Amino acid sequence: MSLKVYNSLTRKKEEFIPRLPPKVTMYVCGPTVYNFLHVGNFRVYVVFNLVRNWLEAQHNYQVTYAVNFTDVDDRIIEQANKDKKTAEEISEKYIAEYKIDLKALGLRPHDLNPKVTETMPEILQLTEDLIQKKKAYAAEGDVLFAIDSFPTYGKLSGRDPQDMIAGSRVEVDQKKKNPLDFALWKSAKPGEPSWPSPWGAGRPGWHIECSAMVFKHFGEQIDIHGGGMDLLFPHHENEIAQSEAGSGKTFSRYWMHNNMLNLSGQKMSKSLGNFVTIRDFLKTHPAEVYKWMILSVHYRSICDFGDEAVHRAIAGLAKVYSAMAVAESYGAWDSKVTDPAFEKTVETCWKKVVESLDDDFNTPEAFAALYEMIRQFNTQVKRGIKPTPVLLAKSVSFKMFVQKIGHPMSLFQEKPSEFLRKLDDLLLQKMNLQRDHVDGMVAERTQSRIEKNFKKSDELRDKLLALGISVSDSVDGTHWEVLK
Ligand code: AMP
Ligand code: ZN
Repeated sequence: MSLKVYNSLTRKKEEFIPRLPPKVTMYVCGPTVYNFLHVGNFRVYVVFNLVRNWLEAQHNYQVTYAVNFTDVDDRIIEQANKDKKTAEEISEKYIAEYKIDLKALGLRPHDLNPKVTETMPEILQLTEDLIQKKKAYAAEGDVLFAIDSFPTYGKLSGRDPQDMIAGSRVEVDQKKKNPLDFALWKSAKPGEPSWPSPWGAGRPGWHIECSAMVFKHFGEQIDIHGGGMDLLFPHHENEIAQSEAGSGKTFSRYWMHNNMLNLSGQKMSKSLGNFVTIRDFLKTHPAEVYKWMILSVHYRSICDFGDEAVHRAIAGLAKVYSAMAVAESYGAWDSKVTDPAFEKTVETCWKKVVESLDDDFNTPEAFAALYEMIRQFNTQVKRGIKPTPVLLAKSVSFKMFVQKIGHPMSLFQEKPSEFLRKLDDLLLQKMNLQRDHVDGMVAERTQSRIEKNFKKSDELRDKLLALGISVSDSVDGTHWEVLK
């Protein structure tokens, strides 16, 4: 089965064919390390974690995945001045914090994390090369890329340079031959970190780092270049111009962009101040809630963040884990028996998952197949019925299905009973209810039932229901859970 990905460059879904199979090279623009990242920033890493895992697990590719750290930037210098630290101290601190967040989210570490400060020779080399090829020019200590030397400038974003200039959204700068020319190298300002160069001390512009890092670690061509949609212009447009003007070759075969995460209809952003850091979110929510929230939306659609989305994620996870808990209650499989009809259902649902993820990572469709599988399981296997070999076999098949879909998404890796308890605790807290209080009411109801005081036990059930707690009785006792 072939994998199709939407290529932002051609604006079409295309069959994915890497340049040198089975190897796949994937580069995703990483964070500017000057502060904690917010839940919007991390969307890209959840999405490309899935892309990488799916390429490996389902298509047997060997993926090398690079995410850079922008450790030279105005915002880092600003933060360093504020905190009375060096720029390096700031960037090292937030690189470490980023790695803590990535781990807490249960995402695989990347294979490569190049930094700007470790890529200076390659940045200088590419800049010199572009000057020599007359694609760039030095001006008053800066080096600028000449967009007029690159006839296809604008091909990624679909923007016409003439229109952009006519639209006069571009600042006039006497140094520039074309107002859209952008800096590859910027002359040093007093008190700022700088590096020596043939054009005087200075530091690289933002865009050049990604081209130089790709050239250094992967060569002139990669298979997938990823990032947030907001990076498409100018950052990725400029990356293409620099790289292709330098090498004369197609820079990336596929450009993949995830959409933004919004809070109350507005892009979550540090500058707008409407953000929640991943660190804070994970203080009160399990990581899988975040991953579910991100993956339940297609990566090219806007993802809304907020109480409602969080609640939907909790409810979805509870559905999966409740079924998993039932499956687990039947213990390990020790029988050669299978149920052909159930196996057929598993196969059909898995086929649907594969088709969905192979169709440009359509995770909502994959989740629909998962829901269908859960529905089938729940109708056939219930808690507390007499375990038969067929029942055990169905439970094992179901568990394997959930693990198989969970693996590429880095989901469903918790212990069901503990995780369900965690979700309930989280909801109880949001509802301002104490677990002890609910336990007490449920125990009182059980006692009423023993005493055959059904009027009282029914009243207590209704009271619990009004609080948002559902109670169910089965042969192995009474269970309660928060209504989701
Ligand atoms: P910034 O801190 O704005 O430079 O963004 C750093 C990275 O996070 C970029 O790759 C953006 O694409 C991404 N990003 C920023 N805000 C959001 C958001 N609200 N949703 C998704 N990605 C975002
Ligand atoms: Zn980049």
